[in-house]
Amino acid sequence: MSINEYAPIIGKGPVEELKILAEKLSGKIIKIINSTQMGGGVAEILNRMVPLLNELGVLTKWEVISGNADFFVITKKIHNALHGTPVTITDDEIDLFLQNNKINAETMDLSGDIVFIHDPQPLALVEKKKEIGNKWTWRCHIDTHAPDWKLWGFLRKYVEMYDAAVFSSPSFAQTLSINKFLITPSIDPLSLKNQELSKKTIDSVLKKFDIKKNKPIITQISRFDRLKDPIGVIEAYNLVKHSVDCQLILAGGTAIDDPESIEVLSEVRERVVGDPDIHVLELETPADIEVNALQRASTIILQKSIREGFGLTVSEAMWKGKPVIASAVGGITLQITHDYNGLLTRTVEGTAYAIKELLCNKGYAKRLGKNAKEFAKQNLLITRHIRDYLLLFLSLYHPEEIVHL
Ligand code: UDP
Repeated sequence: MSINEYAPIIGKGPVEELKILAEKLSGKIIKIINSTQMGGGVAEILNRMVPLLNELGVLTKWEVISGNADFFVITKKIHNALHGTPVTITDDEIDLFLQNNKINAETMDLSGDIVFIHDPQPLALVEKKKEIGNKWTWRCHIDTHAPDWKLWGFLRKYVEMYDAAVFSSPSFAQTLSINKFLITPSIDPLSLKNQELSKKTIDSVLKKFDIKKNKPIITQISRFDRLKDPIGVIEAYNLVKHSVDCQLILAGGTAIDDPESIEVLSEVRERVVGDPDIHVLELETPADIEVNALQRASTIILQKSIREGFGLTVSEAMWKGKPVIASAVGGITLQITHDYNGLLTRTVEGTAYAIKELLCNKGYAKRLGKNAKEFAKQNLLITRHIRDYLLLFLSLYHPEEIVHL
């Protein structure tokens, strides 16, 4: 993978622009720190982005903080509390969180010009800032619009020690005394999950799952999680099926560390008994080619979430030129403009109505998909994400100035 390989997708100009921006940062060292090298959207993006930044000449090093199981239990609680889920975090747990950050601060190499911390786990490393004095930025991937206020009050003291904070959406952010940047996540068009696939590969995946192409395919790909509302998807499909023949794919993974997913999957299986046109697929991790092929084989992609962070499945489907019907929640509303590049819905009935509308009006579905692809190209690709980060890094050296290219 090389940065020049993106030129046929986004054009030579935007790739050249990345090179110009990168040159302005030459000599600067970026130190990225998060809590995991693999698993989850953050690690997925960093694994693709760090080599590209280095290729562009921005020396970028990526390190992961260490911690024992107790530490990660606490950080998971912090994550949930920032999302607004009620949890109890004791003073001892807060002490352990800070203690772990202190140990990491002593043992990790925090040198570099810009220290770029992702998410709350390594947040308190910033205490080291006054000693080493480089620029510090906190990247928050969580929707913190309605956090546990006591916890936020505590974390906020650390957040405000940074030079800047980055959120995915204006609605995810809190009021802060430091500069805030709004940068949405991205997908990589050259990854296995998003690259072009041959008809042969798509057909072989359909064959593997015993899916025929004789009826339109409606698909939702998501972890089996109640917040993704798989039962609502089945109910919407059932309403459609009375009048328009189609088939439904519900595909997703379960995880041993998520007992709820196993429960949800078995509920889903119970609900679909007797309908051979509903395919419930338990995917392995990773299943990038399978996800890619199922998205590409679909007539319509659904994302009927009750709550959503950003909704990368929506980005992936839009990039593939698919008409997407998704709930008007979280980051989905940043991606879909209703009736222009997809359809936003709020209920089972509304979703069923939208499915029927698209199945019966192919030209309309095609137009939404076309606009979706163009939107994804302009806004949702990793190259735009890199550009935003480069501008963010530059702005740290030019506060209150316009950066000229
Ligand atoms: N995904 C996957 N396998 C699955 C379910 C989901 O690879 O069984 C991928 C999906 O393609 C997307 C990501 O996991 O890239 C899910 O991100 P999203 O933001 O949609 O939801 P989250 O799971 O983070 O709530």
